[in-house]
Amino acid sequence: MKVLVVGSGAREHALARSLASDEAVTAVWVAPGSPGPAAEPGVLGCLPVDPCDGDAVTALAQELGVDLVVVGPEAPLVAGVADAVRAAGIACFGPSADAAALEGSKAFAKQIMAAASVPTAMARVCGTVEEVAEALDLFGAPHVVKDDGLAAGKGVVVTSSRDEALEHAAACLSREGAQVVVEEFLDGPEVSLFVLSDGTSVVPLAPAQDFKRALDGDEGPNTGGMGAYSPLPWAPPGLVDEVVERVAQPVIDEMRRRGTPFAGVLYCGLALTSRGVRVVEFNARFGDPETQVVLARLRTPLGALLHACATGRLASHLADVGSLRWSRGAAVVVVLAAPGYPASAKTGGALAGADAGGLQERAWVLHAGTALDASGALVSAGGRVLSVVGSGDDLAAARAAAYERLAGISLEGGQFRSDIALAAAEGTLTLT
Ligand code: AMP
Repeated sequence: MKVLVVGSGAREHALARSLASDEAVTAVWVAPGSPGPAAEPGVLGCLPVDPCDGDAVTALAQELGVDLVVVGPEAPLVAGVADAVRAAGIACFGPSADAAALEGSKAFAKQIMAAASVPTAMARVCGTVEEVAEALDLFGAPHVVKDDGLAAGKGVVVTSSRDEALEHAAACLSREGAQVVVEEFLDGPEVSLFVLSDGTSVVPLAPAQDFKRALDGDEGPNTGGMGAYSPLPWAPPGLVDEVVERVAQPVIDEMRRRGTPFAGVLYCGLALTSRGVRVVEFNARFGDPETQVVLARLRTPLGALLHACATGRLASHLADVGSLRWSRGAAVVVVLAAPGYPASAKTGGALAGADAGGLQERAWVLHAGTALDASGALVSAGGRVLSVVGSGDDLAAARAAAYERLAGISLEGGQFRSDIALAAAEGTLTLT
């Protein structure tokens, strides 16, 4: 099987690395990729393409003669890239534009959850600041205000300040036709669960937890994600089954019933509240950085699994291969971000020590915002610069491996959190 991975983040580097280690996969390309996957053993190369241009991605897939296209980020999905690839008769892992609206519009996701009786926060969709003010008073503090559309993980403000909530709403609503979603605040730890689907059947991957805030102790602004770990030793037994039964399968069924089947990965962002599991959000693609740790633990070959989802054969594939296999150990990913991230990342900084690392190593580097400058030297080129993944027998060992590898990387002003997976590794994170 030949595979083209679309995207350029650490998530796509992780997908390419896993696919390249699958014996059934004979060729992997990434487009547009970055210097990371370009240097990854087993990846044939990175090719320039506009990832949101469906015709260009399709033409590239045809030229390469691939059997499967895997679309990483949300923007190409919402732009209909998966539809374009499938229309050309090529299997594509990733939902149609209509189905990707589960991520593209938080208001649409709320409608689907209501129709499928999925537990989630009470919410109001608002088109004016006056409506927002009313909804803030209805739900009380802390306030949760979300941009309805895609905002790269930065469209949500959670605050106890009514003024800040109104300010964020006003900023979102200043765009023509914009809406915001005001929600009830959900307490409790968050869990990310990726559920693969071919539009009918589902199979869950291992749960992970990510760290959205920029600074240690969950301080600072929300980011695209500063780290993650898997497994979650503190999670209640039966959580995954419950989410499949009460969340993922009902949503997949509802999407199919509407004539817009969802085939790809349904990312269920969950809060384990004192009143039970609630959906915080859906995404229509693998999460970054959780993918880096989930794939680090997956032992079932990835290529055939994604191909089965892309071709409506998930149930028969699972009947053939049995349940998914996982390493019993743990994985921890720590993100190295550019100075100033997330407000205004300073790029172009010299990066050293960021070689990916072999498949046998305990820690490896996945590139996100990196580039080669005119002299061929590696420099930072984005807010999140790279991910360092550590694996080990338990979370403490995986953490140690990740931080030790990170210590060997230099980026002037580079920032990372020092407490990724710390509470879970020390066993101090418990459910009340
Ligand atoms: P979202 O883009 O919807 O995942 O929101 C980003 C982050 O904001 C989530 O991961 C949560 O940490 C936080 N958040 C979103 N919705 C809520 C909510 N209703 N209550 C508490 N925190 C929330």
